[in-house]
Amino acid sequence: MPLRRHPVRYTLWLARTGAAPRTFSLPVWIPVLVVLVLLAWSGLNVWLWQRTAEMRSLQIQLVSLSDQARKLNNQLAAERTRNNALSQDAQSILKQLQVLEKEINTLRERAGMPKIRLVPTRNEGGGRGGASAPAELEEVLRYASQQTAAFSNKLSEVSPALTETLKREAATPYGYPLRGQTRITSYFGYRRNPFGWGFEFHNGIDFPAAYGTAVRVTGAGEVVEAGWKGPFGLAVVVDHGYGYRTLYGHLSSVSVRVGERLERGDLVGLVGSTGRSTGPHLHYTVFRNGDEVNPAGYLD
Ligand SMILES: [Zn+2]
Repeated sequence: MPLRRHPVRYTLWLARTGAAPRTFSLPVWIPVLVVLVLLAWSGLNVWLWQRTAEMRSLQIQLVSLSDQARKLNNQLAAERTRNNALSQDAQSILKQLQVLEKEINTLRERAGMPKIRLVPTRNEGGGRGGASAPAELEEVLRYASQQTAAFSNKLSEVSPALTETLKREAATPYGYPLRGQTRITSYFGYRRNPFGWGFEFHNGIDFPAAYGTAVRVTGAGEVVEAGWKGPFGLAVVVDHGYGYRTLYGHLSSVSVRVGERLERGDLVGLVGSTGRSTGPHLHYTVFRNGDEVNPAGYLD
């Protein structure tokens, strides 16, 4: 006998107080549907909740990223400004170095040293086009730092030589012993004897001047004689070092003492006519390593 399949049915009792219970008879698909709907609904909720959480986290990430981007941008702008400033600094350093080089070379020239070149010109080594093309920042900074070291070396090299040169120049007799008076009545060499017959050797130059005219030393040095000196009358002899000495004769008075240090232009005495003299004038002699030399070479 074939088994008859009855469709499964669920019966729902609804209990009521003071009344008979109500019964519902439901086909099986209804509770299945209800369970399915509930499942779908809660699944949707979970999905929605996950999406929201994801969105929130993405949003947070986005905010943080845009914040980072903004910070980087600021840094970049600051960096750019700094680089520009640096580049300008480097250029100005280079210019200053060029000025310094010129000054150093002037000093080296004065010190009797050969010229040097420290700052390379733009077109040198690299074929950079045009003098107006700005050098690379790094390049300029590299040169600048190299040259600064080179400069200080060159300066310390020049300094003693220059000091020596200036000292020698200050000491070497130069110019006229009487200010504004360049007339000469008797030159260095053989001349007719002003007091008698024949010729005599005149070991200096005679400058005519009024009594009392200031006589000034022609270079820095030390007074080694001050007083009567035979035919030169009242005279002053100054030792300049470097083998130089100068003599100022026929003075009416002496203004310095032996041992006194003098700078060029200092007063040594006043014009007179003491000693072997025919009238007021200054007799001026220059000695080089003990020999009398022509002072004409030391006047200008
Ligand atoms: Zn003379």
